[in-house]
Amino acid sequence: MEFIADIMVGKLARYLRMAGFDVLYYNNAHDDEIIKIAAQQNRVVITRDSLMLRRKVFKNGNLKSVFVKDGMLKNQLRQIKTELGILLKPNLTRCLVCNSPLVKIGKNDVEGKVPPYVYSTHENFMYCHSCGRYYWRGTHYEYMKKFFSGI
Ligand SMILES: [Zn+2]
Repeated sequence: MEFIADIMVGKLARYLRMAGFDVLYYNNAHDDEIIKIAAQQNRVVITRDSLMLRRKVFKNGNLKSVFVKDGMLKNQLRQIKTELGILLKPNLTRCLVCNSPLVKIGKNDVEGKVPPYVYSTHENFMYCHSCGRYYWRGTHYEYMKKFFSGI
C-alpha cells in the first residue's frame, strides 16, 4: 500500500515513512496534482481536507482515501492503523526526508561521514542515494520504537 499525503499531514507522512511505507508528500502540491499522482500511481490519498474528498473520483471509489479526523499525531496514526489494518513499527527502509528506499552500506564507507561516537558504537548503517543521508539504529530509533508501541 502506497500513499500520497496533503500539506496538512506532513508529520504523519514522515512517521509512516518511519514504518517503511512509501508516502509522497509535497508541501506545495495542490489538490489537482495530488489527485493526478494518486490516480497514476495507485496511491491512497491521506488528507484532512474534506472538500477535496467531495470530488467525484473519491465518491465513485476510483481513488482510495483516508480522511484524517484528528489533529494529534498519535490519534492520526491510530486511525490509519485501524482503518487500513496496517502494521506500524519502525523499520529503517525508507528515507524520512525524501521517501527513497534506503540501502545497506558497509561500516568502512561511513567513516568520517557520521559522528565518531556513532561510528564507534554501531555496526549497521543505511544510506539514501537520493539525498545522501545516513541512518542507523540510534537513540532516535529507540524513541520511534517506544512511540509506535504506544499507538
Ligand atoms: Zn533521502
